[in-house]
Amino acid sequence: MTAPISSFSSGGLLDRVKRRLTRLQARRPVDCAQGRYLVSFSFDDFPRSAATNGAAILEEFGWRGTYYASAAFENGTNHLGELFTAADIARLTARGHEIGCHTEGHINCAVNAPVVVQRDVRRNQRRLRALGAPTPRSFAFPFGEASAAAKTVLGRHYACLRGISRTVNRRHSDANQLGAVALEGDAGDAALALSFVDNLASAPGWLIFFTHDVRENPGEWGCTPGLLRRVCKAVHKAGFEVMPVGEAFAALQPMEKAA
Ligand SMILES: [Zn+2]
Repeated sequence: MTAPISSFSSGGLLDRVKRRLTRLQARRPVDCAQGRYLVSFSFDDFPRSAATNGAAILEEFGWRGTYYASAAFENGTNHLGELFTAADIARLTARGHEIGCHTEGHINCAVNAPVVVQRDVRRNQRRLRALGAPTPRSFAFPFGEASAAAKTVLGRHYACLRGISRTVNRRHSDANQLGAVALEGDAGDAALALSFVDNLASAPGWLIFFTHDVRENPGEWGCTPGLLRRVCKAVHKAGFEVMPVGEAFAALQPMEKAA
């Protein structure tokens, strides 16, 4: 899961200050407002329902998503439902979806030593490659929790790192902690996500959505197929470009160099 910290349920004032400081540290500046309107859909952990229901909805629109996998969750079951299998990785990869990296054991990058985080993600990369996934290009912080040291270390392993700061990525963004907006609940909870679709329409940028399970009775951090489809329809109507996180980030690089 990624979301518990988004509500700062475990956080007092000190934790909130630390998180704010971390967002200002170990930054890798990237300009995400280069004239394009980009959207990415991502699924953390990831449950089978994201690989089946979630992928099917994106594919209805001709799009592909990003799946942030913790290898330790393979064949597991938890509050998100059944978790991914090797067959899910193979099918998603064959259909052009991106397999990204979470930590192997879903460890929290803010409270583990950088060397522990580094070992963990190396194991995760090895296990995901063994399952047939290409070398992951992007990473998502479990629980959305980062530290300056983890950002520095992980920034060397991945093209970009995704956090959970609720924002559209624009001119002065951080490739080591990209913002992302949660998709949670059912179609009746679409207002927040749709407000960010409207926000993106106001100026070029890169809007990344994330969720977990995609099923009729989702867990606290997941959404229904109805919510995902409703947001997809709004994105489609707006005419934005939709691509996996790694691909969108790569699309921004040549423009940066040419600038
Ligand atoms: Zn997670």
